[in-house]
Amino acid sequence: MEKSLFVGGVVSLTTLDYPGHLSTVVFLQGCPWRCVYCHNRHLQSILPTESLPWEDILNLLEIRRGFVEAVVFSGGEPLMQERLLNAIEDVRAMGFKVGLHTSGAFPDRFKCVLPSVDWVGFDVKCSFNDYQKVTNIKDSGIVALESLNILIASKVDYEVRITVFEEMDISAIVEVLKEISTLGVKTVVLQKCRDKGESVVEHAIFSDKLLLEDISKYFDSFHVRG
Ligand code: SF4
Repeated sequence: MEKSLFVGGVVSLTTLDYPGHLSTVVFLQGCPWRCVYCHNRHLQSILPTESLPWEDILNLLEIRRGFVEAVVFSGGEPLMQERLLNAIEDVRAMGFKVGLHTSGAFPDRFKCVLPSVDWVGFDVKCSFNDYQKVTNIKDSGIVALESLNILIASKVDYEVRITVFEEMDISAIVEVLKEISTLGVKTVVLQKCRDKGESVVEHAIFSDKLLLEDISKYFDSFHVRG
């Protein structure tokens, strides 16, 4: 029997999830990690209480063809679903560009889908040695680093996003920024975290303009979002 694609939600129109592109975001179920600040806990299980049929998503996209430029697969961790590549091929065949949000939990699958993707939003959690403290999963830093190296070596356009959560020390933020700069990352966004009520959680680093200016020199493109 053909496997299903488990879709947990859709945002019809956004310009934020694939910068510079009017996009539809498809949130896929499932994530192997359990990050302390996760905002999409309802997407962590691959089996949703209710899944939107993929045919319905394709019908929605058909109506938006010529208006929406891109489809972004987000999650959860979209690479957890075995039918992701089929879904990517479906929307490419309709003429849409493809964006992918990932945390890099599945390097082999990432390598396999990358040639079919136009842009990647890659989440880096913290210094790779400290990943388990954030994701609660052993060796998550090893696979995330492997995936990031695959992305850097590819010709695919991307941005690395770091979500600054309340408990993160400024020194830990600077450490991971230096680490990814050394790896060759060129485009970075520091994102503000949101609390359960969807309010932005401020962090001292966002008031330190001199430090942010200094950090920006590590990258071709660096900015704050949130
Ligand atoms: S990787 Fe993303 S979806 Fe998965 S637990 Fe962490 S924040 Fe949540």
